[in-house]
Amino acid sequence: MSARENIAGLAYQAGRLVKRLAECGEAEKAVAAEELAILRDELRVAREGAVVIREFGGHLRATSGKGWHVIRAAKDGSRYCTCAAWKFQRIPAAARSCKHLAKAKQLGLI
Ligand SMILES: [Zn+2]
Repeated sequence: MSARENIAGLAYQAGRLVKRLAECGEAEKAVAAEELAILRDELRVAREGAVVIREFGGHLRATSGKGWHVIRAAKDGSRYCTCAAWKFQRIPAAARSCKHLAKAKQLGLI
């Protein structure tokens, strides 16, 4: 999928959510609004090439435009990310990093 297709797809999903927000009941509104906030983050990242981190129920989620990766603490206290760039580094897990971990550190979140 090209960056342009990714952005078009995200914009389409955001448009559908805006429509759903206007039509849904109060109970569903909070969920739809949260989904919309996440999509808007993804859209911003896809357009600007940045990394966005969100705190989510005791762990962090990070995106650089294509889906969300999870950042958690390992048993030894080091952090790991579920992205492919982190996973396929051929060095010990505790020594690995990726742009998501770097951004989380830069923001003082880990
Ligand atoms: Zn990562």
